[in-house]
Amino acid sequence: MTTPVYQNFINGHFLKNQSGETFAVKNPATDDVIYYVEVADAFIQNAAIQSAKQGFAAWSTMSPIERSRILLKAVALLRERNDLLAKIEVLDTGKPWQEAECVDVQTGADVIEYFAGLAPAQVGQQQMVGEDFYYTRKEPLGICAGIGAWNYPLQIACWKSGPALAAGNAFIFKPSEETPLGAIKLAEIFIEAGVPAGVFNVVQGAAEVGQWLTQSADIEKVSFTGEVGTGKKVVASAAGSLKDVTMELGGKSPLLVFDDADISQAVSAAMLGNFYTQGEICTNCTRIYVHKNVYQQFIDELKTRTEENIIAGDPLDPNVNFGALISKKHQQLVMSYIDKGISEGATLLTGGKTLSPASAPNGYFVAPTVFIDCTDDMTIVKEEIFGPVMSVLTFDDEDDVIHRANDTHLGLAAGVFTKDIKRAHRVIHQLQAGICWINSYGNSPAEMPVGGYKQSGIGRENGIETLDHYTQTKSIYVGMTNIESPF
Ligand code: NDP
Repeated sequence: MTTPVYQNFINGHFLKNQSGETFAVKNPATDDVIYYVEVADAFIQNAAIQSAKQGFAAWSTMSPIERSRILLKAVALLRERNDLLAKIEVLDTGKPWQEAECVDVQTGADVIEYFAGLAPAQVGQQQMVGEDFYYTRKEPLGICAGIGAWNYPLQIACWKSGPALAAGNAFIFKPSEETPLGAIKLAEIFIEAGVPAGVFNVVQGAAEVGQWLTQSADIEKVSFTGEVGTGKKVVASAAGSLKDVTMELGGKSPLLVFDDADISQAVSAAMLGNFYTQGEICTNCTRIYVHKNVYQQFIDELKTRTEENIIAGDPLDPNVNFGALISKKHQQLVMSYIDKGISEGATLLTGGKTLSPASAPNGYFVAPTVFIDCTDDMTIVKEEIFGPVMSVLTFDDEDDVIHRANDTHLGLAAGVFTKDIKRAHRVIHQLQAGICWINSYGNSPAEMPVGGYKQSGIGRENGIETLDHYTQTKSIYVGMTNIESPF
Protein backbone atom coordinates (compact mmCIF):
# COMPACT_ATOMS: atom_id res chain seq x y z
CA MET A 1 0.00 0.00 0.00
CA THR A 2 1.40 3.42 -0.90
CA THR A 3 1.76 5.99 1.84
CA PRO A 4 -0.65 8.92 1.30
CA VAL A 5 0.66 12.39 0.49
CA TYR A 6 -1.50 15.34 1.58
CA GLN A 7 -1.32 18.69 -0.15
CA ASN A 8 -2.06 22.12 1.30
CA PHE A 9 -5.77 22.97 1.46
CA ILE A 10 -6.33 26.27 -0.34
CA ASN A 11 -9.47 27.88 -1.72
CA GLY A 12 -11.69 24.89 -1.01
CA HIS A 13 -9.46 22.16 -2.41
CA PHE A 14 -6.06 20.49 -2.24
CA LEU A 15 -3.37 22.43 -4.10
CA LYS A 16 -0.03 20.96 -5.23
CA ASN A 17 3.08 22.89 -4.26
CA GLN A 18 5.76 23.79 -6.82
CA SER A 19 8.86 22.93 -4.81
CA GLY A 20 7.89 19.27 -4.46
CA GLU A 21 9.09 19.44 -0.85
CA THR A 22 7.35 17.13 1.62
CA PHE A 23 7.75 16.01 5.22
CA ALA A 24 6.91 12.70 6.88
CA VAL A 25 4.48 12.23 9.77
CA LYS A 26 5.02 9.33 12.19
CA ASN A 27 2.65 7.52 14.50
CA PRO A 28 4.26 8.08 17.93
CA ALA A 29 2.99 4.72 19.18
CA THR A 30 4.63 2.69 16.40
CA ASP A 31 7.45 4.86 14.98
CA ASP A 32 6.01 4.17 11.49
CA VAL A 33 5.64 6.88 8.84
CA ILE A 34 1.87 7.10 8.27
CA TYR A 35 1.72 9.79 5.59
CA TYR A 36 3.59 12.63 3.92
CA VAL A 37 2.58 16.27 3.64
CA GLU A 38 3.61 18.89 1.10
CA VAL A 39 5.29 22.00 2.48
CA ALA A 40 3.62 25.35 1.78
CA ASP A 41 6.15 26.97 -0.57
CA ALA A 42 5.98 30.56 -1.91
CA PHE A 43 3.42 29.52 -4.54
CA ILE A 44 1.09 28.05 -1.88
CA GLN A 45 1.62 31.00 0.45
CA ASN A 46 0.66 33.46 -2.27
CA ALA A 47 -2.37 31.36 -3.24
CA ALA A 48 -3.43 31.17 0.43
CA ILE A 49 -3.45 34.96 0.73
CA GLN A 50 -5.20 35.58 -2.61
CA SER A 51 -7.94 33.07 -1.85
CA ALA A 52 -8.33 34.32 1.73
CA LYS A 53 -8.92 37.83 0.34
CA GLN A 54 -11.70 36.49 -1.87
CA GLY A 55 -13.06 34.34 0.94
CA PHE A 56 -13.11 37.32 3.26
CA ALA A 57 -15.01 39.44 0.73
CA ALA A 58 -17.75 36.80 0.50
CA TRP A 59 -17.91 35.73 4.15
CA SER A 60 -17.69 39.13 5.83
CA THR A 61 -20.65 40.47 3.88
CA MET A 62 -22.96 37.62 4.88
CA SER A 63 -25.21 38.38 7.81
CA PRO A 64 -24.04 36.91 11.13
CA ILE A 65 -27.08 34.66 11.24
CA GLU A 66 -26.23 33.20 7.82
CA ARG A 67 -22.68 32.54 9.00
CA SER A 68 -24.05 31.02 12.17
CA ARG A 69 -26.26 28.56 10.26
CA ILE A 70 -23.32 27.41 8.13
CA LEU A 71 -21.02 26.99 11.12
CA LEU A 72 -23.69 24.96 12.92
CA LYS A 73 -23.76 22.59 9.93
CA ALA A 74 -19.99 22.18 10.36
CA VAL A 75 -20.56 21.43 14.05
CA ALA A 76 -23.05 18.68 13.13
CA LEU A 77 -20.56 17.18 10.65
CA LEU A 78 -17.79 17.24 13.24
CA ARG A 79 -20.00 15.34 15.69
CA GLU A 80 -21.19 12.91 13.00
CA ARG A 81 -17.56 12.10 12.14
CA ASN A 82 -16.39 11.95 15.73
CA ASP A 83 -14.86 8.47 15.54
CA LEU A 84 -13.08 9.01 12.25
CA LEU A 85 -11.59 12.31 13.46
CA ALA A 86 -10.74 10.90 16.88
CA LYS A 87 -8.81 8.07 15.21
CA ILE A 88 -6.79 10.62 13.21
CA GLU A 89 -5.91 12.38 16.45
CA VAL A 90 -4.85 9.11 18.09
CA LEU A 91 -2.61 8.13 15.17
CA ASP A 92 -1.06 11.62 14.91
CA THR A 93 -0.54 12.34 18.61
CA GLY A 94 -0.17 8.95 20.35
CA LYS A 95 -2.91 9.85 22.86
CA PRO A 96 -5.36 7.14 24.00
CA TRP A 97 -8.50 6.47 21.99
CA GLN A 98 -10.54 6.57 25.18
CA GLU A 99 -9.67 10.29 25.51
CA ALA A 100 -9.90 11.33 21.85
CA GLU A 101 -13.23 9.56 21.40
CA CYS A 102 -14.98 11.71 23.99
CA VAL A 103 -12.89 14.88 24.30
CA ASP A 104 -10.92 16.11 21.30
CA VAL A 105 -13.58 16.40 18.61
CA GLN A 106 -16.41 17.26 20.97
CA THR A 107 -14.62 20.10 22.75
CA GLY A 108 -13.66 21.48 19.34
CA ALA A 109 -17.23 21.25 18.05
CA ASP A 110 -18.55 22.82 21.29
CA VAL A 111 -16.47 25.95 20.74
CA ILE A 112 -17.56 26.45 17.13
CA GLU A 113 -21.17 25.91 18.24
CA TYR A 114 -20.77 28.42 21.07
CA PHE A 115 -19.39 31.16 18.80
CA ALA A 116 -21.87 30.38 16.03
CA GLY A 117 -24.57 31.07 18.62
CA LEU A 118 -22.97 34.28 19.83
CA ALA A 119 -22.20 35.83 16.45
CA PRO A 120 -25.72 37.13 15.69
CA ALA A 121 -25.93 38.57 19.20
CA GLN A 122 -22.92 40.85 18.82
CA VAL A 123 -24.14 44.44 18.78
CA GLY A 124 -22.67 47.90 18.64
CA GLN A 125 -23.57 50.94 20.75
CA GLN A 126 -25.46 54.10 20.05
CA GLN A 127 -25.28 57.23 22.17
CA MET A 128 -26.56 60.78 21.84
CA VAL A 129 -23.91 63.52 22.10
CA GLY A 130 -25.95 66.69 22.26
CA GLU A 131 -28.22 66.63 19.22
CA ASP A 132 -25.70 64.58 17.27
CA PHE A 133 -25.02 60.94 17.96
CA TYR A 134 -22.55 58.21 17.24
CA TYR A 135 -22.89 54.51 16.78
CA THR A 136 -20.39 51.67 16.63
CA ARG A 137 -20.11 48.61 14.46
CA LYS A 138 -18.21 45.44 15.29
CA GLU A 139 -16.34 44.64 12.11
CA PRO A 140 -14.09 41.65 11.39
CA LEU A 141 -10.32 42.16 11.26
CA GLY A 142 -9.72 40.63 7.82
CA ILE A 143 -7.39 37.67 7.31
CA CYS A 144 -6.31 36.09 10.59
CA ALA A 145 -3.79 33.31 11.10
CA GLY A 146 -3.56 30.46 13.58
CA ILE A 147 -0.45 28.49 14.49
CA GLY A 148 -1.08 25.33 16.48
CA ALA A 149 0.73 22.99 18.86
CA TRP A 150 0.66 19.18 18.52
CA ASN A 151 -1.10 18.08 21.71
CA TYR A 152 -4.74 18.85 20.72
CA PRO A 153 -4.42 19.50 16.98
CA LEU A 154 -8.07 19.45 15.90
CA GLN A 155 -9.32 21.09 19.07
CA ILE A 156 -6.81 23.94 18.68
CA ALA A 157 -7.85 24.44 15.03
CA CYS A 158 -11.51 24.63 16.16
CA TRP A 159 -10.82 26.91 19.13
CA LYS A 160 -9.04 29.39 16.89
CA SER A 161 -11.19 29.23 13.77
CA GLY A 162 -14.55 29.15 15.63
CA PRO A 163 -14.54 32.73 16.95
CA ALA A 164 -12.57 34.03 13.95
CA LEU A 165 -15.07 32.72 11.41
CA ALA A 166 -18.11 33.55 13.54
CA ALA A 167 -16.96 37.19 13.55
CA GLY A 168 -16.63 37.20 9.75
CA ASN A 169 -12.87 36.82 9.29
CA ALA A 170 -10.96 34.58 6.89
CA PHE A 171 -8.46 32.26 8.53
CA ILE A 172 -5.19 30.63 7.51
CA PHE A 173 -4.16 27.84 9.86
CA LYS A 174 -0.79 26.16 10.22
CA PRO A 175 -0.96 23.00 12.30
CA SER A 176 2.16 21.60 13.95
CA GLU A 177 4.33 19.65 11.56
CA GLU A 178 3.88 16.64 13.88
CA THR A 179 0.06 16.59 13.58
CA PRO A 180 -1.14 18.10 10.29
CA LEU A 181 -4.15 15.98 9.32
CA GLY A 182 -6.92 17.07 11.72
CA ALA A 183 -6.90 20.65 10.38
CA ILE A 184 -7.27 19.36 6.79
CA LYS A 185 -10.32 17.36 7.83
CA LEU A 186 -11.76 20.48 9.47
CA ALA A 187 -11.17 22.44 6.25
CA GLU A 188 -13.07 19.79 4.26
CA ILE A 189 -15.93 19.93 6.75
CA PHE A 190 -16.17 23.73 6.55
CA ILE A 191 -16.44 23.52 2.75
CA GLU A 192 -19.05 20.77 2.96
CA ALA A 193 -21.07 22.86 5.41
CA GLY A 194 -21.12 25.81 3.01
CA VAL A 195 -18.28 28.04 4.22
CA PRO A 196 -17.08 29.84 1.07
CA ALA A 197 -13.77 28.73 -0.48
CA GLY A 198 -10.79 30.65 0.89
CA VAL A 199 -12.34 31.40 4.29
CA PHE A 200 -10.38 28.59 5.96
CA ASN A 201 -7.08 27.61 4.33
CA VAL A 202 -4.56 25.17 5.77
CA VAL A 203 -0.85 25.67 5.10
CA GLN A 204 1.65 23.02 6.10
CA GLY A 205 5.23 23.11 7.26
CA ALA A 206 7.51 23.87 10.19
CA ALA A 207 8.82 27.11 11.69
CA GLU A 208 9.50 28.87 8.34
CA VAL A 209 5.84 28.62 7.36
CA GLY A 210 4.84 29.91 10.81
CA GLN A 211 7.30 32.77 10.42
CA TRP A 212 5.85 33.71 7.07
CA LEU A 213 2.38 33.94 8.66
CA THR A 214 3.69 36.19 11.42
CA GLN A 215 5.40 38.48 8.91
CA SER A 216 2.81 38.76 6.13
CA ALA A 217 1.45 42.30 5.89
CA ASP A 218 -1.83 40.88 4.53
CA ILE A 219 -2.57 39.16 7.86
CA GLU A 220 -4.14 41.24 10.63
CA LYS A 221 -3.84 38.90 13.60
CA VAL A 222 -1.99 35.78 14.74
CA SER A 223 -3.36 33.42 17.33
CA PHE A 224 -0.56 31.18 18.51
CA THR A 225 -0.44 28.11 20.75
CA GLY A 226 2.98 26.80 21.69
CA GLU A 227 6.03 27.28 23.85
CA VAL A 228 6.88 30.52 25.62
CA GLY A 229 10.13 30.91 23.66
CA THR A 230 8.40 30.49 20.31
CA GLY A 231 5.63 32.83 21.45
CA LYS A 232 8.17 35.59 22.08
CA LYS A 233 9.54 35.14 18.55
CA VAL A 234 6.02 35.28 17.12
CA VAL A 235 5.19 38.50 19.00
CA ALA A 236 8.47 40.10 17.90
CA SER A 237 7.85 39.13 14.30
CA ALA A 238 4.19 40.19 14.36
CA ALA A 239 5.28 43.61 15.64
CA GLY A 240 6.82 44.27 12.20
CA SER A 241 3.35 44.73 10.76
CA LEU A 242 1.66 45.65 14.08
CA LYS A 243 -0.52 42.55 14.10
CA ASP A 244 -2.89 41.80 16.90
CA VAL A 245 -1.76 38.67 18.78
CA THR A 246 -3.29 36.02 21.00
CA MET A 247 -0.71 33.88 22.79
CA GLU A 248 -1.58 30.58 24.46
CA LEU A 249 1.74 29.47 25.92
CA GLY A 250 3.25 27.12 28.44
CA GLY A 251 2.80 26.79 32.18
CA LYS A 252 4.21 25.35 35.40
CA SER A 253 1.01 25.42 37.35
CA PRO A 254 0.59 24.83 41.09
CA LEU A 255 -2.07 22.73 42.82
CA LEU A 256 -2.46 23.45 46.55
CA VAL A 257 -3.86 20.61 48.68
CA PHE A 258 -4.90 21.78 52.16
CA ASP A 259 -5.25 19.42 55.12
CA ASP A 260 -9.07 19.54 55.10
CA ALA A 261 -9.26 18.49 51.43
CA ASP A 262 -10.91 15.33 50.16
CA ILE A 263 -7.60 13.57 49.55
CA SER A 264 -8.90 11.01 47.04
CA GLN A 265 -10.36 13.84 44.98
CA ALA A 266 -7.09 15.78 45.21
CA VAL A 267 -5.16 12.70 44.05
CA SER A 268 -7.59 12.35 41.12
CA ALA A 269 -6.94 15.98 40.18
CA ALA A 270 -3.16 15.57 40.49
CA MET A 271 -3.21 12.45 38.30
CA LEU A 272 -5.50 14.02 35.70
CA GLY A 273 -3.38 17.16 35.74
CA ASN A 274 -0.15 15.23 35.11
CA PHE A 275 -0.96 12.00 33.32
CA TYR A 276 -3.96 12.78 31.08
CA THR A 277 -2.75 12.96 27.44
CA GLN A 278 0.46 11.42 28.87
CA GLY A 279 1.25 14.75 30.51
CA GLU A 280 1.21 16.85 27.33
CA ILE A 281 -1.26 19.50 28.49
CA CYS A 282 -0.35 23.15 28.95
CA THR A 283 -2.44 23.70 32.10
CA ASN A 284 -1.01 20.69 33.96
CA CYS A 285 -0.48 21.08 37.71
CA THR A 286 3.11 19.91 37.66
CA ARG A 287 3.87 21.49 41.06
CA ILE A 288 1.73 19.82 43.74
CA TYR A 289 1.97 21.52 47.14
CA VAL A 290 0.56 19.19 49.82
CA HIS A 291 -0.05 20.24 53.44
CA LYS A 292 2.33 18.39 55.77
CA ASN A 293 -0.56 16.92 57.81
CA VAL A 294 -1.91 14.98 54.82
CA TYR A 295 1.30 14.45 52.87
CA GLN A 296 1.82 10.76 53.73
CA GLN A 297 -1.80 9.88 53.01
CA PHE A 298 -1.62 11.80 49.72
CA ILE A 299 1.55 10.16 48.39
CA ASP A 300 0.51 6.67 49.53
CA GLU A 301 -2.72 6.88 47.55
CA LEU A 302 -0.97 8.58 44.63
CA LYS A 303 1.66 5.82 44.38
CA THR A 304 -0.89 3.00 44.59
CA ARG A 305 -3.24 4.48 42.02
CA THR A 306 -0.42 5.43 39.62
CA GLU A 307 1.09 1.94 39.77
CA GLU A 308 -2.21 0.04 39.65
CA ASN A 309 -4.55 2.06 37.44
CA ILE A 310 -2.47 3.38 34.57
CA ILE A 311 -2.49 1.21 31.47
CA ALA A 312 0.08 2.13 28.82
CA GLY A 313 -0.10 0.45 25.42
CA ASP A 314 -1.49 0.67 21.90
CA PRO A 315 -3.46 3.94 22.07
CA LEU A 316 -6.18 2.51 19.81
CA ASP A 317 -7.00 -0.14 22.42
CA PRO A 318 -10.03 1.27 24.28
CA ASN A 319 -8.69 -0.08 27.60
CA VAL A 320 -5.43 1.88 27.33
CA ASN A 321 -5.51 5.13 29.30
CA PHE A 322 -1.92 6.29 28.82
CA GLY A 323 -0.34 6.89 25.41
CA ALA A 324 2.98 7.63 23.74
CA LEU A 325 4.76 10.99 23.72
CA ILE A 326 4.74 12.92 20.47
CA SER A 327 8.27 12.07 19.23
CA LYS A 328 11.49 10.28 20.06
CA LYS A 329 13.09 13.70 20.55
CA HIS A 330 10.44 14.71 23.06
CA GLN A 331 10.77 11.36 24.87
CA GLN A 332 14.50 12.04 25.22
CA LEU A 333 13.84 15.58 26.47
CA VAL A 334 11.43 14.31 29.13
CA MET A 335 13.95 11.64 30.19
CA SER A 336 16.66 14.30 30.46
CA TYR A 337 14.44 16.23 32.90
CA ILE A 338 13.94 13.04 34.93
CA ASP A 339 17.73 12.57 35.07
CA LYS A 340 18.07 16.19 36.25
CA GLY A 341 15.45 15.59 38.96
CA ILE A 342 17.45 12.63 40.27
CA SER A 343 20.81 14.41 40.06
CA GLU A 344 19.45 17.50 41.85
CA GLY A 345 18.28 15.36 44.79
CA ALA A 346 14.57 14.64 44.27
CA THR A 347 13.36 11.12 45.13
CA LEU A 348 11.50 8.98 42.61
CA LEU A 349 8.25 7.78 44.17
CA THR A 350 7.35 5.89 41.00
CA GLY A 351 8.18 5.80 37.26
CA GLY A 352 11.28 7.53 35.97
CA LYS A 353 11.88 5.29 32.98
CA THR A 354 10.84 4.73 29.38
CA LEU A 355 8.27 2.03 28.69
CA SER A 356 7.97 -0.49 25.90
CA PRO A 357 4.48 -1.99 26.26
CA ALA A 358 3.87 -5.34 24.52
CA SER A 359 1.10 -3.88 22.34
CA ALA A 360 3.21 -0.88 21.21
CA PRO A 361 6.86 -1.87 21.69
CA ASN A 362 8.29 0.88 19.44
CA GLY A 363 6.26 3.76 20.91
CA TYR A 364 7.79 6.78 22.61
CA PHE A 365 6.46 6.04 26.11
CA VAL A 366 7.66 7.47 29.41
CA ALA A 367 6.23 5.93 32.58
CA PRO A 368 4.01 8.12 34.75
CA THR A 369 6.58 9.64 37.07
CA VAL A 370 6.24 11.19 40.54
CA PHE A 371 9.07 12.96 42.31
CA ILE A 372 8.91 13.65 46.06
CA ASP A 373 11.35 15.52 48.34
CA CYS A 374 11.31 18.31 45.76
CA THR A 375 12.40 21.87 46.47
CA ASP A 376 11.33 25.05 44.71
CA ASP A 377 14.74 25.65 43.16
CA MET A 378 14.99 22.32 41.30
CA THR A 379 14.91 22.37 37.50
CA ILE A 380 11.98 19.91 37.41
CA VAL A 381 9.98 22.25 39.66
CA LYS A 382 10.80 25.38 37.68
CA GLU A 383 10.66 24.40 34.00
CA GLU A 384 7.79 23.11 31.89
CA ILE A 385 8.54 19.48 30.97
CA PHE A 386 5.36 18.74 28.97
CA GLY A 387 5.42 15.08 29.87
CA PRO A 388 4.11 12.80 32.65
CA VAL A 389 6.36 14.14 35.40
CA MET A 390 4.82 15.36 38.67
CA SER A 391 6.74 17.13 41.43
CA VAL A 392 5.31 16.93 44.96
CA LEU A 393 6.29 19.54 47.55
CA THR A 394 5.05 20.17 51.10
CA PHE A 395 3.85 23.24 53.01
CA ASP A 396 2.31 24.16 56.35
CA ASP A 397 1.55 27.87 56.01
CA GLU A 398 -1.06 29.41 53.70
CA ASP A 399 0.71 32.71 52.98
CA ASP A 400 4.01 30.98 52.40
CA VAL A 401 2.59 28.47 49.92
CA ILE A 402 0.85 31.25 47.98
CA HIS A 403 4.15 33.09 47.73
CA ARG A 404 5.95 29.93 46.56
CA ALA A 405 3.21 29.09 44.05
CA ASN A 406 3.49 32.59 42.54
CA ASP A 407 7.29 32.62 42.41
CA THR A 408 7.51 31.95 38.65
CA HIS A 409 7.35 33.92 35.40
CA LEU A 410 4.57 31.63 34.23
CA GLY A 411 0.91 31.97 35.17
CA LEU A 412 -1.28 29.76 33.07
CA ALA A 413 -3.31 27.79 35.63
CA ALA A 414 -3.69 26.98 39.32
CA GLY A 415 -5.85 24.87 41.60
CA VAL A 416 -6.87 24.62 45.24
CA PHE A 417 -8.32 21.68 47.15
CA THR A 418 -9.99 22.52 50.47
CA LYS A 419 -13.44 22.13 52.04
CA ASP A 420 -13.18 25.60 53.61
CA ILE A 421 -15.14 27.82 51.22
CA LYS A 422 -13.60 31.05 52.49
CA ARG A 423 -10.07 29.73 52.19
CA ALA A 424 -10.78 28.38 48.70
CA HIS A 425 -11.71 31.81 47.35
CA ARG A 426 -9.19 33.74 49.47
CA VAL A 427 -6.34 31.61 48.16
CA ILE A 428 -7.40 31.37 44.54
CA HIS A 429 -7.84 35.16 44.34
CA GLN A 430 -4.18 35.56 45.30
CA LEU A 431 -2.79 33.03 42.82
CA GLN A 432 -1.33 34.67 39.71
CA ALA A 433 -2.89 32.53 37.00
CA GLY A 434 -5.50 32.98 34.30
CA ILE A 435 -7.25 29.60 34.57
CA CYS A 436 -8.12 28.46 38.09
CA TRP A 437 -9.99 25.53 39.59
CA ILE A 438 -11.40 24.96 43.07
CA ASN A 439 -11.88 21.28 44.01
CA SER A 440 -11.58 20.41 40.32
CA TYR A 441 -8.89 20.39 37.66
CA GLY A 442 -8.63 20.63 33.89
CA ASN A 443 -12.19 21.21 32.70
CA SER A 444 -12.36 23.92 30.07
CA PRO A 445 -15.87 24.43 28.68
CA ALA A 446 -16.44 26.68 25.65
CA GLU A 447 -18.18 29.26 27.85
CA MET A 448 -15.14 29.84 30.09
CA PRO A 449 -12.40 32.23 28.92
CA VAL A 450 -8.91 30.68 29.08
CA GLY A 451 -5.46 32.21 28.84
CA GLY A 452 -2.36 32.97 30.80
CA TYR A 453 -1.04 35.58 33.21
CA LYS A 454 2.59 36.72 33.04
CA GLN A 455 4.62 34.92 30.35
CA SER A 456 1.98 32.23 29.82
CA GLY A 457 0.04 34.29 27.35
CA ILE A 458 -1.68 37.33 25.93
CA GLY A 459 -5.42 37.52 25.33
CA ARG A 460 -7.99 34.79 25.82
CA GLU A 461 -9.64 31.95 23.94
CA ASN A 462 -13.25 30.86 24.50
CA GLY A 463 -15.86 32.82 26.45
CA ILE A 464 -17.73 35.88 25.23
CA GLU A 465 -14.73 38.21 25.27
CA THR A 466 -12.91 36.21 22.58
CA LEU A 467 -15.34 37.41 19.93
CA ASP A 468 -14.11 40.93 20.67
CA HIS A 469 -10.54 39.77 19.99
CA TYR A 470 -11.62 38.92 16.42
CA THR A 471 -13.44 42.17 15.72
CA GLN A 472 -12.57 45.84 15.63
CA THR A 473 -14.84 48.67 16.60
CA LYS A 474 -15.78 51.26 14.02
CA SER A 475 -17.20 54.48 15.48
CA ILE A 476 -19.48 56.54 13.26
CA TYR A 477 -20.35 60.11 14.27
CA VAL A 478 -23.56 61.45 12.76
CA GLY A 479 -24.00 65.20 12.52
CA MET A 480 -27.62 66.30 13.05
CA THR A 481 -26.74 69.99 13.45
CA ASN A 482 -24.86 72.46 11.25
CA ILE A 483 -21.07 72.32 11.44
CA GLU A 484 -19.57 75.31 13.25
CA SER A 485 -16.37 76.30 11.51
CA PRO A 486 -13.95 79.19 12.02
CA PHE A 487 -12.97 78.92 8.36
P1 NDP B 1 6.21 25.10 19.65
O1 NDP B 1 6.34 26.46 20.21
O2 NDP B 1 7.46 24.34 19.38
O3 NDP B 1 5.42 25.12 18.27
C1 NDP B 1 4.12 25.65 18.15
C2 NDP B 1 3.82 25.98 16.71
O4 NDP B 1 4.66 27.06 16.27
C3 NDP B 1 4.11 24.83 15.75
O5 NDP B 1 3.15 24.85 14.73
C4 NDP B 1 5.49 25.19 15.22
O6 NDP B 1 5.77 24.59 13.99
C5 NDP B 1 5.35 26.70 15.10
N1 NDP B 1 6.60 27.45 15.11
C6 NDP B 1 7.83 27.06 15.54
N2 NDP B 1 8.70 28.10 15.44
C7 NDP B 1 8.02 29.16 14.93
C8 NDP B 1 8.36 30.51 14.60
N3 NDP B 1 9.60 30.99 14.77
N4 NDP B 1 7.39 31.32 14.10
C9 NDP B 1 6.12 30.87 13.95
N5 NDP B 1 5.75 29.59 14.23
C10 NDP B 1 6.67 28.75 14.72
O7 NDP B 1 5.24 24.31 20.65
P2 NDP B 1 4.90 22.76 20.63
O8 NDP B 1 4.27 22.41 19.33
O9 NDP B 1 6.12 22.01 21.08
O10 NDP B 1 3.75 22.65 21.75
C11 NDP B 1 4.02 22.49 23.09
C12 NDP B 1 3.91 23.82 23.81
O11 NDP B 1 2.64 24.38 23.58
C13 NDP B 1 4.03 23.71 25.31
O12 NDP B 1 4.85 24.73 25.80
C14 NDP B 1 2.62 23.93 25.80
O13 NDP B 1 2.54 24.42 27.10
C15 NDP B 1 2.08 24.87 24.79
N6 NDP B 1 0.62 24.81 24.75
C16 NDP B 1 -0.11 25.84 25.26
C17 NDP B 1 -1.49 25.79 25.29
C18 NDP B 1 -2.30 26.92 25.83
O14 NDP B 1 -3.49 27.00 25.49
N7 NDP B 1 -1.78 27.79 26.64
C19 NDP B 1 -2.20 24.61 24.80
C20 NDP B 1 -1.35 23.61 24.24
C21 NDP B 1 0.02 23.70 24.24
P3 NDP B 1 6.37 23.08 13.93
O15 NDP B 1 6.04 22.39 15.20
O16 NDP B 1 5.68 22.49 12.77
O17 NDP B 1 7.83 23.24 13.79
